[in-house]
Amino acid sequence: MKLLHAKGIKRNYGALEVLKGIDLEIGAGEIVAIVGPSGAGKSTLLQILGTLDKPDGGEVWIEDLSVFNLKDQELAKFRNEKVGFIFQFHNLLAEFTALENVCMPGYIQGSKPEKEIVARATELLGLLGLSERMGNLPSQLSGGEQQRVAVARALLNSPAIIFADEPSGNLDSQNALDLHRLFFQLRDEFGHSFVIVTHNEELAEMADRRLVMQDGLMS
Ligand code: ADP
Ligand code: MG
Repeated sequence: MKLLHAKGIKRNYGALEVLKGIDLEIGAGEIVAIVGPSGAGKSTLLQILGTLDKPDGGEVWIEDLSVFNLKDQELAKFRNEKVGFIFQFHNLLAEFTALENVCMPGYIQGSKPEKEIVARATELLGLLGLSERMGNLPSQLSGGEQQRVAVARALLNSPAIIFADEPSGNLDSQNALDLHRLFFQLRDEFGHSFVIVTHNEELAEMADRRLVMQDGLMS
């Protein structure tokens, strides 16, 4: 089953054509790796597929919904419920504990009682082996732990698809491997789709598909 469909995606920054017409389909439960040199447009593409940025041309459908035809407020709600993000630098809020960071997308989404959000966050942190770390601030966690908290946060609203931009780029090889295995475990157990931009060839080889981006085009 097709989860995401992108057609003719273009993005310019001034005179610079960063994306030159990208077509892509992602299946439900599929793990797709995107590799390619720095400056190829990978992060720009991920931001658009994840609805954080709008293209200058082309269209993106997620679950058959044309996302950029939604009003801004509807799009924000859709994004919060359907899409998760993991970045190279975890982007955890420094003044909040691991548990509070993981709860954040639930508070933003705003429709569930706090008790339910905290229970879900606690369950996820347990699943990711962080039960003992829930009360810690990000600065009191190792790099691998911080990234697992970011994964738990991305999972809080049970998104259909998770976009990860060089998620293991800041980890040593053992922590990177653990994180990659976690993605596959989550896909197998919960059926999330993953689109992962990476320089890690081991991960790219493990993925269901390895796509190459170069100079604003996908091959
Ligand atoms: P990658 O993730 O593959 O390294 P990016 O998508 O980050 O590539 O960037 C692609 C190109 O777009 C680069 O030349 C970069 O300098 C340019 N670029 C990215 N974001 C912006 C921006 N906000 N304003 C201007 N140029 C940008
Ligand atoms: Mg990038």
